[in-house]
Amino acid sequence: MNKKANVNTFLAHCGRKNAKEQGVVNPPIHRASTILFPCVKDFFKIQNGQCPGVIYGRQGSMNSHEFSTAIAALEGGDHAFVAPTGLSAITTTLFAFVKAGDHILIVDNVYYYTRDFLNHITKHLNVEVTYYDPLMGSDIEALIRPNTSLIYTESPGSATFEVQDIPAISKVAKSHNIPVIMDNTWSTGLLFEPFTHGVDISIVSATKYILGHSDALLGVIICKDNYKEKIETAISSLGVYTSPDDCYNALRGLRTLAVRLERQAESALKVADWLSEQKEVKRLMFPAHPKSQGHDLWKRDFKGACSVFSILLEESDDDTVGELIDNLQYFGLGLSWGGYESLVLPMKLKSYRQFWSETGHVIRFHVGLEDPNDLIDDLEQGFKKYRLYINHK
Ligand SMILES: *Cc1c(COP(=O)(O)O)cnc(C)c1O
Repeated sequence: MNKKANVNTFLAHCGRKNAKEQGVVNPPIHRASTILFPCVKDFFKIQNGQCPGVIYGRQGSMNSHEFSTAIAALEGGDHAFVAPTGLSAITTTLFAFVKAGDHILIVDNVYYYTRDFLNHITKHLNVEVTYYDPLMGSDIEALIRPNTSLIYTESPGSATFEVQDIPAISKVAKSHNIPVIMDNTWSTGLLFEPFTHGVDISIVSATKYILGHSDALLGVIICKDNYKEKIETAISSLGVYTSPDDCYNALRGLRTLAVRLERQAESALKVADWLSEQKEVKRLMFPAHPKSQGHDLWKRDFKGACSVFSILLEESDDDTVGELIDNLQYFGLGLSWGGYESLVLPMKLKSYRQFWSETGHVIRFHVGLEDPNDLIDDLEQGFKKYRLYINHK
């Protein structure tokens, strides 16, 4: 499938070559551990890399190949590798790049479990981590040391959605020969072109909008030719394997990704707008909204919005926040985002973030495919109960 086609055309046709050959619309699921070969000569040819193919199921399936080819083209990379979760895509990439004695720079609003992994691994490997301010652009140069081996970014970052100046950071990194890794999950593969902005490795949790139905997990690592071997080696030596069923579903998710995103982003802006008007909301953290920090950078670098964002609520206790959240009918209280259904999640960030000093609850919203007017009505009755509770306290 020609990646030059418009995005909706691409999404409808990518990854279907193998299906067409068999006269069906969707590529069938190929489940295999053992692969059989017609003869000894062919077996050794594939094993020695003289002709393409896999010799064992762990090396991937027709389905993982089709999905990864599609996502590589979408992001503008040359290669993509699938992993069973977004987090395993992250840890595999870090494993590929980090060695004992290194110093690495990690953005402070990084996905929580990336930080958790680094807390463990750095002790084992004697690696030093510096968390940097997400609002830092080219000033990051001052943090670079002779043994700095990578810069790890995420933009907009987790929970508070600060937009990073990726081109400025990448420019500094290039001048020091340091690779830039980006957790590009927010952009879903569609909204930000990592490689044209100077990123070397892009990672997307396909669990979110790509799979899109809150029923499976998957991660993807995308790169250009220059880092293919490094990542391939890590994937293979760690035994990272992803089920063909999950890859099938991820490819199916791509078909409707653009239309879901468009609708969900439109609804999210309406809901965010309503929330920003409530007197208890101190700050809106949704760079696609003009009232939010990061809007200008987002406009400069991104092609659109998804539907996850946060608010900073006035100072409150857990019971009071519960009055607001527990009474919502359409917003489920749960982790993750990117599905068809709306979610809400209260968070306390001050205990582990270095560049976050607010003590109020950060509340993350994910807006699904429901009618935004129903969602706003729902929030309105939630806020009523919240206010009633405060007035009677
Ligand atoms: C959810 C998420 C991940 C992890 O993805 P899983 O598939 O849940 O392991 C990584 N990065 C970001 C930004 C995420 O939101």
